[in-house]
Amino acid sequence: MSKTTLVWLQRELRLSHLPALQKAIAESSQVAVVYFHDPKRVIGEANTAWLSHSLANLRRQLYARGADLFIFSGDFPEQFSLALSEIKPQQVYYSFQVGQPFTEMQDLALNLCQEHKVALQPFYSEFWFDPGQLLNQQHRPYVVFTPFYKAAIGKIDTLEPLQESVVSCDDDWAKLRWRERLPAHYFQLPPSLSELQDKPWVKKIMQYWQVGETAAWERLRSFADHQLNGYADERDFPALDATSRLAPHLHFGEISSRMLHFELLSLQQTHPKLNAQTWLRQLLWREFARHLLWFFPYTETAPFQEKFAGLSWQNEDSVLHQWQTGQTGIPIIDAGMRELWETGFMHNRLRMLVASLLTKDLGQSWLLGQEWFAKTLVDADPANNTMGWQWVAGCGVDAAPYYRLFNPLRQSEKFDPQGTYIRKWVPELRNLSCKAIHAPWLYPQECALKGITLGRTYPFPMVDLMRSRHSHMARVQELKHA
Ligand SMILES: Cc1cc2nc3c(=O)[nH]c(=O)nc-3n(C[C@H](O)[C@H](O)[C@H](O)COP(=O)(O)OP(=O)(O)OC[C@H]3O[C@@H](n4cnc5c(N)ncnc54)[C@H](O)[C@@H]3O)c2cc1C
Repeated sequence: MSKTTLVWLQRELRLSHLPALQKAIAESSQVAVVYFHDPKRVIGEANTAWLSHSLANLRRQLYARGADLFIFSGDFPEQFSLALSEIKPQQVYYSFQVGQPFTEMQDLALNLCQEHKVALQPFYSEFWFDPGQLLNQQHRPYVVFTPFYKAAIGKIDTLEPLQESVVSCDDDWAKLRWRERLPAHYFQLPPSLSELQDKPWVKKIMQYWQVGETAAWERLRSFADHQLNGYADERDFPALDATSRLAPHLHFGEISSRMLHFELLSLQQTHPKLNAQTWLRQLLWREFARHLLWFFPYTETAPFQEKFAGLSWQNEDSVLHQWQTGQTGIPIIDAGMRELWETGFMHNRLRMLVASLLTKDLGQSWLLGQEWFAKTLVDADPANNTMGWQWVAGCGVDAAPYYRLFNPLRQSEKFDPQGTYIRKWVPELRNLSCKAIHAPWLYPQECALKGITLGRTYPFPMVDLMRSRHSHMARVQELKHA
């Protein structure tokens, strides 16, 4: 019997290790691989820029094999209904994603499939462990990372690898060929995506990245060859090229997160002394973030710990603007914010520091920071971004306690001792000594000698860090006694 399956891609933009596509090909005579782009349901501009390149890449990969990628663009419910009418599938397969805009679209898809009497099946290949598989002794979700991590490590031997090749022969590729049967516009990148690629800011950030499945695997191999062994010691130093930078590839599913575990296993067989534990732990932070958003979807817009909902924020546009544009007058913070604006990425240590400054010293809501990251990060990810901001703000699960503020000056001296990272991103300070570069306002003579006029060529710090610590503590104490 001839059967048509629609494979709805959301974030698994790859052709290997893809169970939804593999099963669809095995059981169907025709398979339509579809992406729905709703310009009103996107994460942010940098992330959408990556998306447009990644879709173009995937489309090329498929086309080269005689297969097609449908791209329906416009209002999601309308386009989804249109796809069901045009393609006439008996079933829709997709891999489940947490967070917005995905969960809303998944709910809408469920209703539409019911209306059209089409079966809808989710796959959980974006997770290492199906949601609900890792629960504590009370059968409740873990809300602290370390026990979650131990439970995951305890079950890691039960993890199933995903099959690499989802297509076994040319006849399989032929099942994905539609081009002569439907109008050409279904197979092209819509203008809202292709025109984005020409925007100057998008062009600027994208020059730092290679997009797509092949690039993701190359990145992994290069990281494994050159950086993985030193990762535990070097990952906190932003001037070093010591982390994998796989985050955007992982977000878009250009490489399977679960398969990274199996890659590490095979690497350890050939290099028994390889130290991969710390990196594996970071991958499990990612998994933890996904489980949290699955169980507590409200945390994308509200604090996990309800008592923090009453915390008053001083939200001021001018303060936010100084922070966003890297003009706080605190060099390490400005370096992080400028790296983000220039490249669409920021080192993890800096993400923690800039988030702590914004929420705790400057008293601006974590939601404003989360929103800016969502707009500007190529790896903007609902689960990781939400967990990261709530963790730093102190209102999330397993959070950095409210009384712990990162001191950006001590952090700068510790993790950028020579000021190399600051010199790169805040070039107006590059001639300062290793001492003065962390806090130029404490070295007025040296600044004058090096031609730096505070308040003119570089700002004075926008906040007195001692005072802001006290006012943060006072705000939180108020909350405790409210
Ligand atoms: C305020 C804040 C916001 C953040 N927003 C995002 C975001 O939108 N998207 C995002 O992918 N990460 C986010 N992170 C987590 C982390 O900063 C990035 O994943 C990491 O910097 C990416 O660099 P990398 O790929 O070189 O990571 P590596 O150090 O090589 O780690 C490998 C992978 O592990 C995962 N990972 C590492 N650290 C974390 C972490 N703390 N939490 C969850 N997963 C982690 C990522 O997928 C990463 O690609 C945020 C962290 C903070 C503090």
